Amino acid sequence: MAEFKYQFFVVGGGSGGVRAARIAAGHGARVAIAEGYRYGGTCVIRGCVPKKLLVYAAHFSEDFADAQGFGWSVPPASFSWPHLIAAKNQEIARLSELYESNLRRSGVEVLHGAARIVDAHTVEVNGQRFSAEHILIATGGRPFLPSIPGIEHALTSNEMFDLPQLPQRVLIVGGGYIAVEFAGILKGLGAQLTLCYRGEKLLRGFDDDVRQHLHEEMTKKDIRILLQSDIVRIDRLGSGELQVEISGKAPGSKLFDTVLYATGRTPNTEGLGLTHAGVAVDTAGGVQVDAYGRTNVPSIHAVGDVTNRIALTPVAIREGAAVADTLFGPGPTVADLSVVPSAVFSQPPIGTVGFSEAEALKRYEAIDIYRANFRSLRQALSGRDERTLIKLIVDHASQRVLGAHMVGADAPEIIQGLAIAIRMGATKADFDATVALHPTSAEEFVTLREKTTRTRHD
Ligand code: NDP
Repeated sequence: MAEFKYQFFVVGGGSGGVRAARIAAGHGARVAIAEGYRYGGTCVIRGCVPKKLLVYAAHFSEDFADAQGFGWSVPPASFSWPHLIAAKNQEIARLSELYESNLRRSGVEVLHGAARIVDAHTVEVNGQRFSAEHILIATGGRPFLPSIPGIEHALTSNEMFDLPQLPQRVLIVGGGYIAVEFAGILKGLGAQLTLCYRGEKLLRGFDDDVRQHLHEEMTKKDIRILLQSDIVRIDRLGSGELQVEISGKAPGSKLFDTVLYATGRTPNTEGLGLTHAGVAVDTAGGVQVDAYGRTNVPSIHAVGDVTNRIALTPVAIREGAAVADTLFGPGPTVADLSVVPSAVFSQPPIGTVGFSEAEALKRYEAIDIYRANFRSLRQALSGRDERTLIKLIVDHASQRVLGAHMVGADAPEIIQGLAIAIRMGATKADFDATVALHPTSAEEFVTLREKTTRTRHD
């Protein structure tokens, strides 16, 4: 294979690409990777990691208030957005450098520059062409903005992480992960928050009880939620304020300082040269791949958000590892994505794994549903009217647990462990036979007794 400079050329230094490059190099392949922005990708630079840091920051306002119920006298607290952003930037820079140094340590050649695929075995970076036996597209995605008049005045999550100041009156458009997460962050840090969503209930695709519960808890925090509402146009007034015309259930014109669009993401394929290289994309622009991440061009693979499937970092990492193992390791490997837990870092957060009630009913004749809705011990003294929801979905016939859902403090931490049990095929009897850990909220998962049985024909 000496005719190729590299055996594996990875385009994109995000979670999926970096993992694929390092594993391939570990298998002994000659590997290069190119990144046009900063190593780490969306997750590290302007996604999961900075988001979680902002979520921690936002939580302190409630913690200070709740502390009084536990005997603390807390003087009025003040918050500095520039301080938080500077600290966040420092951590992101550290992680990005770590990504690069780990790549080098693994023996990967690290390039800076946007890559273009010239043909099935050639990649161009900064005007220089490299030949490669295999190419991996791992360029991720970017925010999608619908085209309405004045959309140029709207921000996306990309810009939110680097605003010079905390905006005061914020409108968030969308009802998905990013919308509810930023609503909790900005509200917790002191902004007035309105969320406008076109659908009937936030977080389409999640369990209906989870969706309802989060809506109620967000409303308790004074987040104004407009459902079945759309944005008609955005105008910037002479004062600098944004005048937003809203249609739907609560029509009217309202003034905001910042409008954040969180209306989904679109695969990053522009300028990649895919058409020229003959790589097929779907109607949404996602690179089409088979179970092994292979495109219609046999030497070109793709993983992660650019394939427009499950847009989650751990999924891209699995897919990247599977491609590297397939090409340079043990042989054909498919990423096992049969059980993918997911978290929404809303306030309170959501943790979920397996089927929602509605999804389970589509697949199983009858299901048992167990639910607990309670005030956690912490809230007994904090005085906060926050409730926790826990829900299990069980196949009535086999008694296998099909789904576990939680809205409440630490839900993502708790659900990670339950994902192992569910992946292993645990039954409700296994959950019941597990000794509780007291006093926790998580113990409710092993003490649920009252069930409702639903059949597909109810
Ligand atoms: P989501 O797909 O979660 O949500 C998009 C939202 O925008 C939906 O409510 C959708 O409504 C709405 N929408 C779409 N198009 C329009 C439009 N033209 N006008 C008005 N509303 C519109 O995307 P996000 O942007 O929130 O996040 C992108 C992806 O990133 C997520 O799907 C997730 O995979 C990942 N992510 C994961 C996180 C985590 O794991 N915690 C955190 C953040 C992001 P409708 O429901 O009607 O389609």
